[in-house]
Amino acid sequence: MSSVTWQDALTAGQTLIIDGGMGTELQRRGVPMNEVVWSGAAVLTHPKVVREVHEDYIRAGADVIITNTFGSTRQMLAGIGRGTDVEQVHRRAVALAQDARAAAADRPVSIAGSLSTSPPEFDHRAYPPPEEELSIYRESAQLLADAGVDLIALEMLEETTHAPLAMRAAKETGLPVWLGVSCRRDGNRIVRFTNNVPQVSLADSLDALLPLAPDVVNIMHSEIEVISDALAVVQTRWSGPVGVYPESGYFAKPNWNFTDVIPPSDLAREAFRWMDAGAQLLGGCCGTTPAHVHALRSAVDDRNVDR
Ligand SMILES: [Zn+2]
Repeated sequence: MSSVTWQDALTAGQTLIIDGGMGTELQRRGVPMNEVVWSGAAVLTHPKVVREVHEDYIRAGADVIITNTFGSTRQMLAGIGRGTDVEQVHRRAVALAQDARAAAADRPVSIAGSLSTSPPEFDHRAYPPPEEELSIYRESAQLLADAGVDLIALEMLEETTHAPLAMRAAKETGLPVWLGVSCRRDGNRIVRFTNNVPQVSLADSLDALLPLAPDVVNIMHSEIEVISDALAVVQTRWSGPVGVYPESGYFAKPNWNFTDVIPPSDLAREAFRWMDAGAQLLGGCCGTTPAHVHALRSAVDDRNVDR
């Protein structure tokens, strides 16, 4: 699917299905997670499994698959002594997604290149000076663009210092940019997902990022119970397309704990509420599986038939 095609689908009021968790699905299939880069190095160490996960998400019904590059900036890879592998990691990650699409897609599938601001070991004291940090995001965004992704999916942006740098780098590629924000509930407030750093509200984060003109705003890697309220916060500020791909279960570094993951049919039921609230893109993040994506696909197709 070219970028024009998915954008046309959204403009026509259709619902798009995004894939589910990548790191957690690799973990589930026996790929070891790393404390510093999470699943970032798997495209080099376990390429076949990465490709299989992409293929399974496509067969489950995803219209958009997201590359396994969430933890692949030079900064993240340097945390395991592989900073110089940054180009190879991005090229391989995109190639594996493209190979999976060629092998498994029987309808248009777009490839989103994931870019995040997370520092090594998720340690927020580990950021370099702003100019260097911006150049790190520019490098990743341009590598994704050069390798042929259809869009950049910014993931787990949640604050107002580092996130705008990544957003700027993504926009500079000229590709469409999906802004993925993560949040949680803190009393009556919806705030940034990460809780070991100064707190920023979702509203303040959006006020800093929306002027940079994303094409889509997704609420992602956020607990299911916070999604409806977060959607309301987004929609008071943003009239463009919105999407939802929540996490389920919980993280115990470096692994995802798969107990308490929402059953696929329950996720599909929740998704109906989000669709009613205007969400046009639905998928899953950490903890979710091809079975979740299949349930979302079936639910959306059933609803389309009913109309
Ligand atoms: Zn996630």
